[in-house]
Amino acid sequence: MAATETHCPYCSLQCGMKLAGARTLEVSEWKEFPVNQGAMCRKGWTSAELLRHRERLTTPLVRDAATGEFRPADWDEALDVVADKLAELRAAHGPDSVGVFGGGGLTNEKAYQLGKFARVALGTSQIDYNGRWCMSSAASAGTRAFGLDRGLPFPLADLEQTDVLVLVGSNLAETMPPAARHLVNLRAKGGKVVLIDPRRTSTADKADVFVQPVPGTDLALAQTLLHLVIAGGWVDEEYVATRTTGFQPVKESVASWWPERAERVTGVPAGELRDLARLLGEADKVMILTARGAEQHASGSDTVLAWINLALALGQCGTEYAGYGCLTGQGNGQGGREHGQKADQLPGYRMIDDPAAREHVAGVWGVQPDSLPGKGRSAYELLEALGQEGGPKALLVFGSNIIVSAPNVNHVAERLDALDLLVVADMVMSETAARADVVLPITQWAEETGTMTNLEGRVILRNQAITPPEGVRSDLDILSGLAERLKSPVGFSTDPEEIFAELGRASAGGKADYSGITYQRIRDEHGVFWPCPDVSTSDGSARPGMSTSDGSAKHPGTPRMFLEAFATPGGRAVFHLVEHRGAAEQPDDDYPVHLTTGRVLAQYQSGAQTRRVRELTDDGAFIEMHPMLAGRIGTADGEPVRISTRRGVMVAPARVVSTIRPDTVFVPFHWVGANKLTNDALDPASRMPEFKVCAASVVSA
Ligand code: SF4
Repeated sequence: MAATETHCPYCSLQCGMKLAGARTLEVSEWKEFPVNQGAMCRKGWTSAELLRHRERLTTPLVRDAATGEFRPADWDEALDVVADKLAELRAAHGPDSVGVFGGGGLTNEKAYQLGKFARVALGTSQIDYNGRWCMSSAASAGTRAFGLDRGLPFPLADLEQTDVLVLVGSNLAETMPPAARHLVNLRAKGGKVVLIDPRRTSTADKADVFVQPVPGTDLALAQTLLHLVIAGGWVDEEYVATRTTGFQPVKESVASWWPERAERVTGVPAGELRDLARLLGEADKVMILTARGAEQHASGSDTVLAWINLALALGQCGTEYAGYGCLTGQGNGQGGREHGQKADQLPGYRMIDDPAAREHVAGVWGVQPDSLPGKGRSAYELLEALGQEGGPKALLVFGSNIIVSAPNVNHVAERLDALDLLVVADMVMSETAARADVVLPITQWAEETGTMTNLEGRVILRNQAITPPEGVRSDLDILSGLAERLKSPVGFSTDPEEIFAELGRASAGGKADYSGITYQRIRDEHGVFWPCPDVSTSDGSARPGMSTSDGSAKHPGTPRMFLEAFATPGGRAVFHLVEHRGAAEQPDDDYPVHLTTGRVLAQYQSGAQTRRVRELTDDGAFIEMHPMLAGRIGTADGEPVRISTRRGVMVAPARVVSTIRPDTVFVPFHWVGANKLTNDALDPASRMPEFKVCAASVVSA
């Protein structure tokens, strides 16, 4: 049997792979795919195991009212149960009584169809998704500074071509190992890698400079570096004058960020800060990339803006092999935020409160613009409102395991339990599915076709490689079946290629314009970078003024953005005034240490998939701490430790390492527990919860 070219189901690198076989599935290298060139991490190599997993759900389950237990149901019955309850709630309480929760791992087609289903079939404004908890702070900052957010505005391989690469809050070597080769290659060419992280992770082994700040102080660090860059005379004055606006007040605002003050706030020695500023100031090309460590804070979007301010002052953004980018996390973290499953957006990165956007998208959908609801609640606010007065009474969950991934999850669990109806579409009995009233078993990545948009903005195609097991259906089938039962004014296709073409039309003219991309182009070109407008006329020639360099009617896509102008109204990047606020919750006598959370190499996100793969190490959660802290609380490596915050408690073995700050503990978030502890304080702009830092107490258990 010929191998099918497809992509790993997990992170935003979307490594290309080949999949062959029928009963026994074999993953092999797809060397021609440029992003990973055949390299994969162990999660990718073992990903096929889940396709034939014994815990796979293959029949819908409906909770029996008399026993409280699940019982098998056929698809018609399960969809009828869901549709009848939704219709009843909508009739009694209005369309916003139904909520929809999506995921950053859904294909573009599913994300698009989910947004359309919510607005057209349900008529609800109450839709958001777990990507809100992933990169929304970077998205918010990028939009404000550049007029447009695309995680990396350049191909990943550009990392090797810069002079100094700064990673802020990223553990690239463990979260996407094939990408780490770019750090090695950059250093081999004489470039420098700087890592900023409260933990000395294995990424630090690939860095020339390692800076270890107190969690929640990255903004102050960036302000200080900007202060030092100004003081050192390293500002690119011509660039600032011709390509940016708003520098003067920002310049004045960082005047007080003396390195000695920053040392007290960040814990980073003033000398290290001066050395780092000189390294950046004297480099020709500087690239600054943030990840969740810097972004998942109640001041996450301001933190990203502070790093963008620094990159702009150095004259780097919108130039080759330099600038600012965000390392997106989830598999479709990029595309998932562009096509309408976000509370405030319509397809093509259009805003739902923009009358022109509503008119365009409504036209593609075949409905009246004023029939579309307005802006809904952000992900955490949506969950908080469940079962409350004026909040949704039913929730449909696609591609998300809320009970592991939401912050302050004890509170979220109470809200889920207050619903009249919880419906979860999943392939296994995840922790969230286990609380549902109806569970709908779905197809997996290799069993269906669809596009994803990787961290570079490259739209790629997952080709169906195998036939799904009997009894499961695609999310697209479920949406179509429910829309029909709910008497939606328009039908919902189940054909991914047809949906992608419609998505292209809906995105046409928007910021994330996919209208010039087709499945065939993606196959032929190993992915296409958006924006890629359709530049052809009905006779196939290029529209006036839109012909490409070779005169063809095919837009080449946009690997590098902003080289000529930014996407702001005036074409200039915008400096933003920001202020260090620190973590929303500071250590005190009761909770004296900082808690930070993150990932480990062998696991992915909520672990619903990777925890079920036998070949991936699953030793469960642990509490990482410095030997000084372990000594103070009288524990040792492997001994049970109780960690508490104002929101919850968990017990796990201590992992004693000298690579973490003595004032900080780390807990991985792939298992139930870490997010019982995390803080639900939200960023005012992005509504990102403060996953990355809160105050905690640890004692020997
Ligand atoms: S998890 Fe990420 S880095 Fe690992 S193989 Fe999959 S896409 Fe590649």
